[in-house]
Amino acid sequence: MSTNRKETYSSTCCYCGTGCGILVSKDKKGVVSLEGDADHPVNKGMLCSKGMNLHHTANDTSDRLLYPQMRFNKNMPLQRVNWDTALERTAAVFKTFIDKYGPDSVAFYMSGQCLTEEYYVVNKLMKGFIGSNNIDTNSRLCMSSAVVGYKMALGEDSVPICYDDIELADCFMVTGANPAWCHPIIWRRVEAHKSANPNVKIIVIDPRKTDTCSIADLHLQLNPGTDITLNNAIGRILIEQGNIDYAFVAHHTEGYERYKQSVFERSVQEAAEICGVPAKDIELAAAYIAASKGFLTMWTMGLNQSAVGVNKNLSLINLNLITGHIGKPGSGPFSLTGQPNAMGGREVGGLSNLLPAHRVLNNPEHRAEVEKFWGGGSISAQPGLTATEMFEALESGKLKAIWIMCTNPLVSLPDVRKAEKALRKAKYVVVQDISNKPETLAYADVILPAATWLEKEGTMTNSERRISHLSKVIDAPGEALPDREIICRFAQKMGYQGFDYKDDQAVYKEHAALTAGTNIDVSGVDYEVLKTQKTVQWPYPKVAGSGETKRLFTDKQFYTPSSKAILHPVADQNTSEGTDDDFPFVLTTGRIRDQWHTMSKTGKVNKLNRHIPKAMLEIHPDDAFLLGIKEDDVVEVRSRRGDVRLKAKLSDGIKPGVVFLPMHWGKLLNNDLNRANNLTNSLLDPISKEPDFKYCAVSVQKFIKP
Ligand code: SF4
Repeated sequence: MSTNRKETYSSTCCYCGTGCGILVSKDKKGVVSLEGDADHPVNKGMLCSKGMNLHHTANDTSDRLLYPQMRFNKNMPLQRVNWDTALERTAAVFKTFIDKYGPDSVAFYMSGQCLTEEYYVVNKLMKGFIGSNNIDTNSRLCMSSAVVGYKMALGEDSVPICYDDIELADCFMVTGANPAWCHPIIWRRVEAHKSANPNVKIIVIDPRKTDTCSIADLHLQLNPGTDITLNNAIGRILIEQGNIDYAFVAHHTEGYERYKQSVFERSVQEAAEICGVPAKDIELAAAYIAASKGFLTMWTMGLNQSAVGVNKNLSLINLNLITGHIGKPGSGPFSLTGQPNAMGGREVGGLSNLLPAHRVLNNPEHRAEVEKFWGGGSISAQPGLTATEMFEALESGKLKAIWIMCTNPLVSLPDVRKAEKALRKAKYVVVQDISNKPETLAYADVILPAATWLEKEGTMTNSERRISHLSKVIDAPGEALPDREIICRFAQKMGYQGFDYKDDQAVYKEHAALTAGTNIDVSGVDYEVLKTQKTVQWPYPKVAGSGETKRLFTDKQFYTPSSKAILHPVADQNTSEGTDDDFPFVLTTGRIRDQWHTMSKTGKVNKLNRHIPKAMLEIHPDDAFLLGIKEDDVVEVRSRRGDVRLKAKLSDGIKPGVVFLPMHWGKLLNNDLNRANNLTNSLLDPISKEPDFKYCAVSVQKFIKP
């Protein structure tokens, strides 16, 4: 669409996984402005504070990387080089390591912000041609427990709901999430629905009284790490009171008796004491669920980022299954995705244990299908290194080279000072980024300038399986290139065939063809139609009469071998790091309203920085009083791994014994004492390998200048 003075393009917000549609206008000078897309089914014209300020990040190129740089040995400074030199030298280094130490000596660490086509080509390069599964992403840090939970319970990593279920639900259980700040447009739809229908019930489960609680009918302010105990207690009450869907359980699930036995192992009173909430409130939550016709469970990092993240997910999905609240309007488990394309990355297999279209490495047929399709070499059955494992392998010397794309691990990884040491020891570090700010750049042997939002074309998938097309609106500054093009040029320098794509559309078509016949089939999505129509929801097979799929499992046929969903009994053990006299507080970390991830985009916008200008430690006034801490006092927080030093913010919205730090801040002027991940630990969920960001033991004291 164009007018005389401005050209207008459709795009999708590049922050959270809500996937809001945006109309971007460009004037003759190339300056962009934007508004919410009123025709977009996700946001219907609305944008949150982050989305409505995105144009500032596009117009301000003052921090952008403009040309490739490299150092020819570790003792030399970085110097400007051209693309051929940077990529040829990197190809030579990678080949040397691969020849000498094998393909598992190199790795790619990506991001849930990468477009689907970018993920696709990196995955193809690593798994299909280099011959290693060492490709993982920062989505490992946020969604991998939900991925495993869905797969174990439903047979497939598939979010069953659509956003239109929001307006059809009459009971929401929001647990381990603060959508009022972190998924604001989804939450505005919930708020509007509740406002129009006051009988709609909202249960919020969180150790903190967040803004999401402002419309809650019930806030269960549980002790950190007790989610499974709480979910099991709710399950027990529903069973005891006969408020389950017996027909659904009998015909469409497996494992009910074992599940029932497990939830009856603890009384509700016992559970209430463990969780630190009144038993009557647990009963009230169960009563709201029992009375509902449409029950949506919504969750994000509070469940996922845990040493028992998979079990937390299963304990929640169990509640949807015993009540039959899945595959019907207004009902289902609804995981909120933190990044704009964590879903798309999984669709193309961009995790170290996956293959395209949710195929898995340990299935020889799946490997053979993909090998034949790509025509490279044989695909290893050995899972690759996950996000945190990559950095451990760099430190031990097992991994020689790492290529970091579009992510800032020296702010976002747990126990981050350890990751810093690992990068210092790495033999070769490639950093592909848009900004000259990330802490990771200090350790780079090669820096590759990448194009960002609006400077490249492609697709992303949001939390409701909705694929959106993003238009290229402006040219990237300097010599920056789209990530997909950088990787394809590199693959060709490595001597591999099959990376000479004409354009992004050709990559999309190859990816779509590889999904044919799978549960996430998008072979029916025509790219040109997608461009005009802007969005569709998968699956969308190439079958006459087929179209997009709003809601999964409406036929009650699940993707398990028996076609039944599986109820998993889960023990309510919390395996997180214990507190003791030296480290008596539980630290939990999370997001704030106007910043996103490590602030490389939102941190450029003054308006957004005004909301909460600095990282502060949130602490209950009773705890602060006992420690002699007053509002704005500088406090020192220590864990068994590191320390931070920042101001205290007293809040009676946090549970006594718990403290909270925002996760966004990194090093400021070489001072890393704002960085929450100095404190966190690298304990992982044993199956999903997702870190335990929401629970570690710390001490807090008032800082006295020596
Ligand atoms: Fe962007 Fe998420 Fe805000 Fe929508 S809700 S505008 S996707 S940050």
